[in-house]
Amino acid sequence: MSTIFKDIIDRKIKANIIYETSDILAFEDINAIAPHHYLIIPKKEIKNVNNITSDDEKILGRLFIAAKKIAKKLKFQKDGFRLIINCNKDGGQTVYHLHMHLVAGRKFSWPPG
Ligand code: AMP
Repeated sequence: MSTIFKDIIDRKIKANIIYETSDILAFEDINAIAPHHYLIIPKKEIKNVNNITSDDEKILGRLFIAAKKIAKKLKFQKDGFRLIINCNKDGGQTVYHLHMHLVAGRKFSWPPG
């Protein structure tokens, strides 16, 4: 089932896109929880971590490569950042298109709430 993120990929819904390759897109989260809050997604529709397969190994690696490149470009690589992937209801997933949150620009507590 398609989600709002598919509409962003297809440019049916506007988003502030900060990074794009042939198979990855990253854009600003509409409800930022930090000075930097981006969502990094595969263009391929994958519901969540429960639905990844060994065919997805390359694309999953590219999510991390995108995170690294964005952190470097936006100069918060050294101070640090957090990557979060929520899965299903107990994980807090609300959009069922696999995505990695990249948050930075303030200190985050650990363990999370
Ligand atoms: P999750 O709770 O992990 O599924 O995260 C979904 C995220 O998508 C939330 O942080 C939302 O703020 C964000 N979000 C939902 N709709 C949009 C949108 N149209 N543009 C940007 N971010 C969105």
